[in-house]
Amino acid sequence: MNIKDFEIIDFHTHPFSDRAENICSHIENCDMSEENIVRDMKAAEVSKICGSVIVRKCNFSEEKSQWEVVEACNRSAMKVSADLGGYYVPGIMVHPDYVGESIDAVDRFYAKGVRLVGELVPYMHGWNDYSCEGFSKILDHITEKNMIVSLHSMGEDQMDEMVKRHPDTKFVFAHPGEYGEFCRHMKRLKMSENCYLDVSGYGIFRHGMLRHAIDEVGIDRIIFGSDYPTCNPYMYVGGVLLDPLLTDSEKAAIFSGNIRRLFASVGLDI
Ligand SMILES: [Zn+2]
Repeated sequence: MNIKDFEIIDFHTHPFSDRAENICSHIENCDMSEENIVRDMKAAEVSKICGSVIVRKCNFSEEKSQWEVVEACNRSAMKVSADLGGYYVPGIMVHPDYVGESIDAVDRFYAKGVRLVGELVPYMHGWNDYSCEGFSKILDHITEKNMIVSLHSMGEDQMDEMVKRHPDTKFVFAHPGEYGEFCRHMKRLKMSENCYLDVSGYGIFRHGMLRHAIDEVGIDRIIFGSDYPTCNPYMYVGGVLLDPLLTDSEKAAIFSGNIRRLFASVGLDI
């Protein structure tokens, strides 16, 4: 099968409405703008994108609280979603230092049809422990609402602890990582059938990684993601499409089948 025979949905992107929200390191060389997101992703035959907007705190001229930064991310995600129409499925940010505000935000955006939280990128928002009490309370609420949580991988033991305490939460961990981190992901995915791994970031460039993951946890839990615009989406599409160790049906499951099924399980027909 050729690239055009597959439906490709990118679960892990960070769209932007302006330069301050663009986390690409090579902005000057990429002719980027909000509308060019669609151009860039369609060049990789991606028909839909998901993910969160990341606004760096240092981009604000005045001193803002971390919660104000989170709110700015969420506002932008909804704006970009409206601007790009159905092309972008927005994910919202939460913050464990602001439990009440986060729970309110989850309810507010749930009412607007949002079913995805994240990708959360704690190190960019001043927190670093997925097993902390504040995040646990927020996860209880997210689980009650039956939403998906996309997470930047960080702190192996803390991620295990989080999964043990929240076996019903639908987690998608980003970045397979190097061999040691990858093996921890495999163990974690075996701990809970509600855990998934997206292929963005480090890991997929190691030959055989996808085959190893499928053989170990099954095809249903591996999800396509690129981490655009930080990372090059064409490399990730090629990494799945051209891998001779995968069957066409496995490629189709990674590219969109698993993502569609995951969103359907939270009541969203993307
Ligand atoms: Zn990311």
